[in-house]
Amino acid sequence: MTSFGSICVLCGSGEGDAPAYRAAAVALGREMAARKIRLIFGGGSIGLMGAIADAVIEAGGEAIGVIPDFLIRYEVGHKRLSRLVVTDSMHERKRRMFEMADAFVVLPGGLGTLDETFEIVTWKQLGLHAAPIVVLDVDGYWTPLRALIDAVIAARFAHPKVSELVTFVSSPDEVLAALDAAPQPAPGVATGHL
Ligand code: AMP
Repeated sequence: MTSFGSICVLCGSGEGDAPAYRAAAVALGREMAARKIRLIFGGGSIGLMGAIADAVIEAGGEAIGVIPDFLIRYEVGHKRLSRLVVTDSMHERKRRMFEMADAFVVLPGGLGTLDETFEIVTWKQLGLHAAPIVVLDVDGYWTPLRALIDAVIAARFAHPKVSELVTFVSSPDEVLAALDAAPQPAPGVATGHL
């Protein structure tokens, strides 16, 4: 049984072009609610963000959204959350999400998801946190991301240990076990100095 009280899920404000993406978000949301793991997310009611929040709430779980003031109307601030934290800026949003989470899961998403993912991975690379990060590679959507990280390592712009900072899995059932099993980074090893 997992020891995480809360998981921050980074995911798209869109739904993508395949029903499998939404299905994965719903499956993960139900699993989190069943295990009483709080969802921390971007606070919108649209796209995969809305799908996972709805799944958590409908299954009786707890969902906390964090959204900047100016985005409430674009991302349609979710109305049925346990709590909606409104921030003044995108930076504050990321900081609050980070502070509230014990672990991070990345679902399919767009450039915003990539931004949030790289920030959380690079903070871990710098030793600023040691929280597990799992990328759910639904239908191979994130395979190019894994290939990019491998290419950066192969070109010696990152230490090989950087690959241990993120675990890739392919189905929602594997996410929680992968978070539990994620390797703990050794302090200072993965700072990119080769
Ligand atoms: P997207 O993957 O582009 O659909 O965006 C997913 C979420 O990331 C949305 O809630 C965006 O508002 C958010 N986002 C986009 N850019 C950033 C950024 N630079 N910092 C933090 N969040 C962002």
